[in-house]
Amino acid sequence: MAHGDLWQSVLGEIEKRVRRQQFETWFRSVRAADVTPARLCLAVPNRFYKDWLETYYIPVIKESAEAVTGVAPEVALAVDSQAAFSAEEADEAERDAAEAYETPPPANEPVARLTSGAEYRFSPNNVFETFVVGPANRLCHAAAMAVVDAPGKAYNPLFIHGGVGLGKTHLLQAACRAYLAKNPRARLVYTSCEEFVNDFVSALQRGDVAAFRQRLRDVDFMVIDDIHFLARAERTQEEFFHTFNSLYNAHKQITLSSDSAPAEIPSLEERLVSRFKWGLVARLDPPAYETRLAIVNMKSDLRGVGMPKDVSEYIARSIDTNIRELEGALTRVIGYAALTNRPIGLPLAQEALRDLMVARPSVSIEDIAKVVSARYNVKLSDLQGKRRLKSVALPRQICMHIARRMTEYSLEEIGGFFGGRDHTTVLYADDKVAQLVKRDTRLRAILSEVEAELTRNAR
Ligand code: ADP
Ligand code: MG
Repeated sequence: MAHGDLWQSVLGEIEKRVRRQQFETWFRSVRAADVTPARLCLAVPNRFYKDWLETYYIPVIKESAEAVTGVAPEVALAVDSQAAFSAEEADEAERDAAEAYETPPPANEPVARLTSGAEYRFSPNNVFETFVVGPANRLCHAAAMAVVDAPGKAYNPLFIHGGVGLGKTHLLQAACRAYLAKNPRARLVYTSCEEFVNDFVSALQRGDVAAFRQRLRDVDFMVIDDIHFLARAERTQEEFFHTFNSLYNAHKQITLSSDSAPAEIPSLEERLVSRFKWGLVARLDPPAYETRLAIVNMKSDLRGVGMPKDVSEYIARSIDTNIRELEGALTRVIGYAALTNRPIGLPLAQEALRDLMVARPSVSIEDIAKVVSARYNVKLSDLQGKRRLKSVALPRQICMHIARRMTEYSLEEIGGFFGGRDHTTVLYADDKVAQLVKRDTRLRAILSEVEAELTRNAR
């Protein structure tokens, strides 16, 4: 491939990764000076371009080149106004660039970076304004606002944990957006832990760890969602440990979310567990009825749907698991009304949600406990006991998980059966087993055998 063509292909990739207006402003007037797969020497019209591209776009350029050639090149930028541009062009470019330099990316379109260096844009839904505050999430909400106001000072790190669908991602992204709105020029990295792990592993494979590291060392505000994903990635834990230390020592804000408390993340290095507790560890709990009702009302308002009071109350009463499911139920009711061309009312809502509510085969908690205790060779009385026996912890969590799937019992009833444990323990167990099942094929097989046996026995 000729060098000019190579640069054209790289440009094509860059175009996919940045916003149109940014592309027009920053990349239209970049010329290929000396371009090989290993090294891109680019000519830019003036020093504004050079500074701006170096500050914000090197990772994107590298990534785009890598997408074309399979290797991440070195990137060098040189100011070359005489050779590459007419005087007129250069003047115009200088004016544009000077303007753009003074005007950071607009606040309503904040730009975050992924660990790969690519840009990330947040869902417009995930802002503080649309987050309904209640007793179960008040602390997390206040803490997320506090780190925006006093990054690196208020709570560092901020560690938010809670079960699925309770608003972790929403809060983290809201904090990112608010932070970027206040500090548009700051460097913010937002990523899921899974992406962090993948990016690190591919940097390792490419022998490009230095660049990966560099991208994370001069960050002002670092947010990693679902950090429990680190549990399985030992080598990445080590890397993350160093990133954490360098940001922490530089008083940069670190904000993390997880499905469980630091000490409960399986096989997480002790030194990370202890660091996660240095700042504030705050828990999101399932929302109470009043909060659920407020959420249903707000979300139907946002969709421009008038929801009769008895219907929103019905939805809020029926779905007590998490907010994602609550939204799912709301969507279902609205969709059902549109589909059947009927007004939204209680009978319609009941119909729409019927198969979310119907009892599946009538299985009792006791049936579940019996089948699981036989399978794991533990005593039924231990499953139901108050004592914290390690050997029965997993079988008990499995029982809770299955009970949530196969029965209509409430969290309190399920917890009650298993030694008077509270509803958050049941939620935690349910979620934990759901996570385990995703990666543990043996456990998946056991679960489907147990469920099959229960269905066979069901009356
Ligand atoms: P998690 O990351 O904890 O699994 P999310 O942040 O993705 O959960 O939240 C699931 C859904 O519920 C999202 O659509 C989110 O906007 C919504 N949600 C969560 N908490 C609230 C809240 N307090 N107010 C309004 N919407 C919420
Ligand atoms: Mg999430």
